Amino acid sequence: MRIDLHTHSTVSDGTFTPTEVIEAAVEAGLDIVALTDHDGLGGWAEAARAAERVGIGFVPGVELSCRWYGVEPAIPLHLLGYLPDPDHPGLAAEMARVREARLRRGERIVELMRADGVDVTWEEVQGYAKGDTVGRPHMAQALIRRGLAATVSEAFAPSMLGERWRLPKDDTDVFLALSLLLDAGGIPVFAHPRATKRGRVVPDELIESMAPSGLVGLEADHEDHSPAEREEIRALALRLGLVVTGSSDFHGSNKPVRLGANLTAPEAYEALLARRP
Ligand code: AMP
Ligand code: FE
Ligand code: ZN
Ligand code: FE
Repeated sequence: MRIDLHTHSTVSDGTFTPTEVIEAAVEAGLDIVALTDHDGLGGWAEAARAAERVGIGFVPGVELSCRWYGVEPAIPLHLLGYLPDPDHPGLAAEMARVREARLRRGERIVELMRADGVDVTWEEVQGYAKGDTVGRPHMAQALIRRGLAATVSEAFAPSMLGERWRLPKDDTDVFLALSLLLDAGGIPVFAHPRATKRGRVVPDELIESMAPSGLVGLEADHEDHSPAEREEIRALALRLGLVVTGSSDFHGSNKPVRLGANLTAPEAYEALLARRP
C-alpha cells in the first residue's frame, strides 16, 4: 500500500486542480492520497468525485496555518487535519478568517515588492491564485514572469519572498487549531515540524504539550527534513505515543517534489484512523 497524506491543489498554492492531483496520484502508483490545501476545504468535492471515478482511496484533509504565541515573535507552524466535519461552524469560520487575513497580507506584500521596484499589481497576483487561498507562491509567479526568479524556490530567496518581503500572517493559535480540529472530529498531525529552511521551528517542549492537547501524529518523512531530523522526530513520536507519518507535500510545478516521494506506512494510517476523536 502506497499512502501519501499531504498534497496541495489550485484551491491553495498547488498547480494541479483537485482532479489532476487525483489522476497524478494514480499515475504515481498511490493507493490512498489526502488533499490538504492550506486553510480551506474547497477541493474536497471535486477530489472525491475524481477518486471515486478512478478508484483510489481519498482522504479529505486540510493544512491549517498556525502560530505558537508562547514566544515573541510568535513562531509559525502547520497543522494537518484529516477528516474534520466540513460543516463545523467554528472551524469553517476560523479558516475563512485566515483566508481573509491572507488577502490583506498579500496586498501589503505586493506593496513591499512595488517599493523595491517590482512592477507588480495585486490584481495580477490574484489572477495567479485560482482558488480560495492566496499565498507567496502566487507572488512567486509574478517574479518568474519578470525573469527575477527561475523557479518558485528561487523566489523564496532571502532577498525576495523568503525574508525581505515576508510578512507574518494572522494565523490561528496552535492550541485553538487543535481544539477546533478535535471538536470537528478531525485527526491533527503536525506537518514538517523540523523544517528549518522555512524559518524558525518550535521547540520539542511545545510538541510535548501538544500531545496531551490531542495531537495524534508527527510528519517525520518530509523533503524538508534531513535523515537525522527524521530520526529525531521518530524518537519524539515514540516517546510521546504519537503516530509517525510521511508525505510528499506535493505542490504541482510550484515545487520539484513528486507525489509519493515520501509515504505513510499502512499501520500508521490505521493508527491515525483508530485515534479519530
Ligand atoms: P505563505 O502560506 O503565503 O506563507 O507561503 C508559504 C508557502 O510557500 C508554503 O506552503 C509552500 O508552498 C511555499 N514555500 C515556502 N518555502 C518555500 C521554498 N523555500 N521554496 C518553495 N516554496 C516554498
Ligand atoms: Fe504551500
Ligand atoms: Zn506546510
Ligand atoms: Fe503543505
